[in-house]
Amino acid sequence: MSRKMRLEIVTPDRLEFSGDVESIIAPSVSGYIGILPGHIPLIARLTVGVLTVRTGTSRLTLAVSEGYMEVSPSKVIILAEAAEMPGEIDVERALAAKRRAEEILATSKEHVVLARARASLQKAINRLKVAKYKDGSGEGSPSVPEKIGRE
Ligand code: ATP
Repeated sequence: MSRKMRLEIVTPDRLEFSGDVESIIAPSVSGYIGILPGHIPLIARLTVGVLTVRTGTSRLTLAVSEGYMEVSPSKVIILAEAAEMPGEIDVERALAAKRRAEEILATSKEHVVLARARASLQKAINRLKVAKYKDGSGEGSPSVPEKIGRE
C-alpha cells in the first residue's frame, strides 16, 4: 500500500493546499482524529482547531474553522470555512477579534450574540495558537488517540 495519500484543503476563497501527504491529524467535532493512507472511507464534521499534516519532509500546521473532511483510502478532501497557515495569520486582526468577543461576552445578555461571540473567541484563540508555529515555537501536535492507524 502506498505510504502517501492526496490531500486537498479547500476554503470558499481558495485552494489552500494540494499535495501528497503521509498523515493528517484533524479537529473533528468528536475529538482529534488521525488519518493514514488506506484509511476506510469516512466523512467527519470539523470544528475550530489545529490541523497537522506530515508530508514526509516537513510538518504543516494550519488553523481551521468549521467544515467537513471526506476520507477515502488514497484521497482526503477538507472543505473548511477558513484555513490559514501560520504565515497567513494576521496576529493583530486575531487579537482585535479576541478583544471584541471578550467585550461582548462581558456585557451582552442575548443568547445569540453570546453564542456568536463564543465562536469568534474560539477562532481567534486558535489563530493566535497556530500563528506561533511560524517561528517554530508552536506547542507540538495535538495528542492523538488510538484512532490513528490504518483501519
Ligand atoms: P474577523 O472578526 O477578524 O473578521 P472572523 O473569525 O470573523 O475574523 P472568519 O469568518 O473565520 O473571520 O474568516 C473570514 C475570512 O477571513 C477567511 O478567509 C479567513 O481565512 C480570514 N481571516 C479571519 N481572521 C484572520 C486572521 N486573523 N488572519 C488571516 N486571515 C483571517
